[in-house]
Amino acid sequence: MVWATKQARLNSHQKVICQLARRGSPGLKSTSTKSVQNLISTIFPPQCLRCNRLEYALCLDCRRSIGVQRGDQLAGVAAVFSAGDYSGWLRDAVLAYKSGRQSNVDGLASVLLQVLEVSQLSADYLVGIPSTKAKVESRGFDTIGNLCSALSRKTKIRHVRALKFAHRVTSQVGLTRDQRLQNLNQAFCATRAISGNVLLVDDVITTGATMSAAAQKLRIAGAKNIFAISLCRTQ
Ligand SMILES: [Zn+2]
Repeated sequence: MVWATKQARLNSHQKVICQLARRGSPGLKSTSTKSVQNLISTIFPPQCLRCNRLEYALCLDCRRSIGVQRGDQLAGVAAVFSAGDYSGWLRDAVLAYKSGRQSNVDGLASVLLQVLEVSQLSADYLVGIPSTKAKVESRGFDTIGNLCSALSRKTKIRHVRALKFAHRVTSQVGLTRDQRLQNLNQAFCATRAISGNVLLVDDVITTGATMSAAAQKLRIAGAKNIFAISLCRTQ
């Protein structure tokens, strides 16, 4: 059996156990959530996103190999950092996650943790760039929301869902930075008032127009300083 097929089968089995645990299946009802998590990690140990070493979602060697980059200045954002270019293992890990391999979330959150440690950024709140309702429904999970929750568990920075899509935007593909900003200007709305410093999180930064549009809404909602991090950025 090829490795990819084995991995797909493992992911499928892991997903079923997670679903049973969430639903409170009779067989798992008396078992605490932590015990279930321990059982899952014993049967399906995490595997490093980059080198496939077992036991670590992202091993320390691979984490330290990440070349964190400071991005160009973005309107409304005090500083922006990414873990790397949209290529190689990082691109593969992001694509697999967005395609349904939810087990990648812990490793990807470790990638963002490395970005925070190298950049020395901190904040009062984590806010993810929201996905459209249609995307969340079609994927079956909220990619950036879940990533923020995992990062919040590692950093203890509070994750708040302070933004949502106000309405559908036309495709961003092929648009210039100014056109993207105009397109996105009314796309987001704040769901609550916010104060202090905010760390915006996204998977991939392209022109940065999405981050700037989101930062603008958070500023109006009361945020003081807004920083941004992403897993990747395109050139
Ligand atoms: Zn590794």
